[in-house]
Amino acid sequence: MKVCYPGTFDPITAGHLDIIERASNKFDEVIVLIMQNPRKKCMFTAEERKYMIEKCIKSDNIKVEIGTGLTVEYAKQLGASAIIRGIRAVTDYEYELQQATANMKLESSIETLFLIAKPEYSFLSSSVVKEIAMNGGNTDGLLPEEISDYATERMKIE
Ligand code: ADP
Repeated sequence: MKVCYPGTFDPITAGHLDIIERASNKFDEVIVLIMQNPRKKCMFTAEERKYMIEKCIKSDNIKVEIGTGLTVEYAKQLGASAIIRGIRAVTDYEYELQQATANMKLESSIETLFLIAKPEYSFLSSSVVKEIAMNGGNTDGLLPEEISDYATERMKIE
């Protein structure tokens, strides 16, 4: 089964990478889909986000793509039969439930599957990492090691 994991990944965190790796252990192929949303102001360009994710992934069954428009449409085009999302807390659930239900209405053949965040990452988001890095705080363990120096330096100068 081919699945896609859409998100903003601005930048990829250790929590995102954990979801990607866990999904890659369960499914034949995982496509990490960097969705471009013109209304969302990102710190990193889509190409930079792709570069960072590609530096972190180790299995052959993980691919990275950049997409625009509707996630379900993109997932269908890629031949994915499910969308993977991560849930950290009840607050995520409310938003994710709405998104998943809307996607179900748009494309009933694509299921949304949820993976629960590891407790050590349940507080972690790209925004939290950005806030820490921009203020010169310690980002150890929050970013994947492969990109930690690059991303931390890049976030400091924003
Ligand atoms: P989006 O803008 O689509 O929410 P994100 O890059 O913030 O994009 O997140 C992509 C997905 O990864 C979402 O389902 C989100 O809940 C999940 N996620 C984010 N951070 C973590 C984490 N620390 N652990 C597990 N899942 C996470």
